[in-house]
Amino acid sequence: MHTRSGDAARPIAAQPARSQCPHCLRPQRSCICQWISPHTSQVEVLILQHPLEVHQAKGSARLLHLSLSPSQLVVGEQFEAAQLEQLLAGPRRNILLYPEMPGEQSLGMASAQPLDPAWLQEPQQLRLIVLDGTWRKSRKMLYLNPALQSLPRLPLKATPPSHYLIRKAHLPDQLSTLEATVYALAQLEQAAQRYDGLIASFDGFVAQQAAFMPPLPPRSDN
Ligand SMILES: [Zn+2]
Repeated sequence: MHTRSGDAARPIAAQPARSQCPHCLRPQRSCICQWISPHTSQVEVLILQHPLEVHQAKGSARLLHLSLSPSQLVVGEQFEAAQLEQLLAGPRRNILLYPEMPGEQSLGMASAQPLDPAWLQEPQQLRLIVLDGTWRKSRKMLYLNPALQSLPRLPLKATPPSHYLIRKAHLPDQLSTLEATVYALAQLEQAAQRYDGLIASFDGFVAQQAAFMPPLPPRSDN
């Protein structure tokens, strides 16, 4: 544990920049680059990452971005309208990976456009927008960015149980960002096994993170 109180007394490098891996942005000792599993998708992926997720050791969005091409990762909570417009610019069609929730209109949010089934015939013309944050944070991102609200949404069809056992905040039916995105890609591209290698690598990442963490208390549910 670091405390700030003693910093002034240290002669040099009071706040030493721990050597950081330039790719995964983690300390070298916990670098996750060995779990990068290069995959090319037909659908382009745009990950909008909540700022509080950037240094979450358990976060999977950066691993997803490093593994997947074409993909982009942009950090922010409320984006400038012009920036978002640029990120969502054509020719690809944008789909938001997010369920339609009751009560959105009563919050003043725009209704999502229906997803045109014809779009699903051309996955190479699609861009999947993924919000990386806890449930509450991703909901706030949606609320703060009107341009996202009206995008057609992709509800995930039945997905396998999460491999993600390291994050207590996750509900049993909540997937990591990496898993949710990979299953959405498999659904959109109708390629059930295309990303199995990525999920296998993710298992290695999960095991590495678990080794850094104290054991979870026993679960009483299921
Ligand atoms: Zn690394």
